[in-house]
Amino acid sequence: MVKTIKTKRLPKDPGPAGWNEIYKDKSSFPALDTDIEVDWVIVGGGFAGLGAAKRLLQLLGSKERIAVIEARGIAQGPAGRNSGFMLDLPHELNSDTYAGSKEQDLRQIRLNREAITMAESIAQQYGMDKALFSRSGKITASATDRGYRSIETYARHLTALGEPYELLGADDLHSLLGTEFYRKGLRTARTAMIQPAGYIHSAYKGLVSEGVQVYECSPVVEMTLNDDVHTLICANGVVRAKNVIMAVNGHIQSFGFFKQSLLHIFTYSSMTRALKNHELKALGGIENWGVLPADPMGSTIRKISDHAGSGHRIVVRNHATLNQSMEASEGNLKDAARLQDRSFARRFPMLKGVDMEYRWGGRLCLTYNSVPAFGEIENRVWSACCQNGLGTVKGMLSGMMAVDKAVLGDTELLNEFLIYQAPKRLPPEPFLSVGANATLKWKEWLSGIEL
Ligand SMILES: Cc1cc2nc3c(=O)[nH]c(=O)nc-3n(C[C@H](O)[C@H](O)[C@H](O)COP(=O)(O)OP(=O)(O)OC[C@H]3O[C@@H](n4cnc5c(N)ncnc54)[C@H](O)[C@@H]3O)c2cc1C
Repeated sequence: MVKTIKTKRLPKDPGPAGWNEIYKDKSSFPALDTDIEVDWVIVGGGFAGLGAAKRLLQLLGSKERIAVIEARGIAQGPAGRNSGFMLDLPHELNSDTYAGSKEQDLRQIRLNREAITMAESIAQQYGMDKALFSRSGKITASATDRGYRSIETYARHLTALGEPYELLGADDLHSLLGTEFYRKGLRTARTAMIQPAGYIHSAYKGLVSEGVQVYECSPVVEMTLNDDVHTLICANGVVRAKNVIMAVNGHIQSFGFFKQSLLHIFTYSSMTRALKNHELKALGGIENWGVLPADPMGSTIRKISDHAGSGHRIVVRNHATLNQSMEASEGNLKDAARLQDRSFARRFPMLKGVDMEYRWGGRLCLTYNSVPAFGEIENRVWSACCQNGLGTVKGMLSGMMAVDKAVLGDTELLNEFLIYQAPKRLPPEPFLSVGANATLKWKEWLSGIEL
């Protein structure tokens, strides 16, 4: 049976990915300008694409030909736009409304750690330094009563899960972070922190050294699925492949799959210019740190150390909008910029006058019931999509799991991963967008100065 799918939409990412702009050791990859034949083609060069390609190499070695096709530049999409927290612990633990089950959380932690171990072995094998990947842990911190309560709940859940943590007071936070903004915090040790664009560039460069063909700026605009060989048409070339892994996150919907099930959320970041020596001195604190807000709608902040001349900088992430069109507007970016400037001024009065050099937004894909868009969606076409926010880890995991499913069929890890329901159907428009954006705004307002 032959089925032709025309891609309805191609990815558009607002603003320059700051992490990619400051990364000096960028590799460029060719665009596909000819016809190629491979055994496996992976569509999407983010974390899911990486997890899939690496797992294929692990399971099949150089026996089979593998290609990755990316629409944009490698690390210009969400993979190079995120805040770089590779979280091992379930994120929702720090919400007021936490209602998870212990067994489910322990399973998720095991799976997350498999993915982080994979990310770490990629970093080691391809010679990345600590600025690109490190197990530096993370701090969840707060400056409001509401946030303190979340930290207490978080601590109780971690105790119940048998996970170690360290509580931090205002003085600890001041000496670690420089800022006096935060009053209470909680540190866990096993989160990995990455320079997302640097990590992704180095990882894909490493894949090429192992024989994987990586093409960037080559959007797949049409697919013809066939009984024996699938054909993918890109802007200037064609891929024929026996097996296809779709690692396009929310854009799986642009190929006609998982209709009415995917929420397309944009979130936004600003990155300062490189700080001058006297500014760094005025700030104080340790070289490199990452803080997640105790209130999920608050600001994520990172201080990054100089890497190959990119400078010490502060990165602020906050604000979320639902854009079912899969495009963010100029107005969205302006709103985010205003909120981020306010957040920066509150936390870093000693850095008054330091401008933001880069501002950008990026897409996340969520389902109503927080399950992935995963599985064999057509004969020998697997989806490793929709990571429900924490895609540096869950993307890597779903790419690995798609390959395990395709090549091995049944493994212990896969059986753990596959315990979830189908994605729930979304309410119709315009109710969905109006309701969701109003709720997001309300929650941002509730988060107070945490934002
Ligand atoms: C500002 C921000 C902060 C974030 N912070 C964090 C964080 O700290 N920790 C965390 O875990 N997650 C974070 N995320 C989320 C994380 O970036 C994503 O969940 C993750 O990138 C998803 O990985 P993925 O590989 O599934 O998809 P993506 O990274 O989105 O990769 C999919 C790729 O498919 C490509 N593609 C789409 N259509 C086509 C086509 N037709 N042809 C070819 N290629 C195509 C896209 O260009 C894209 O590069 C953040 C996101 C943003 C925007």
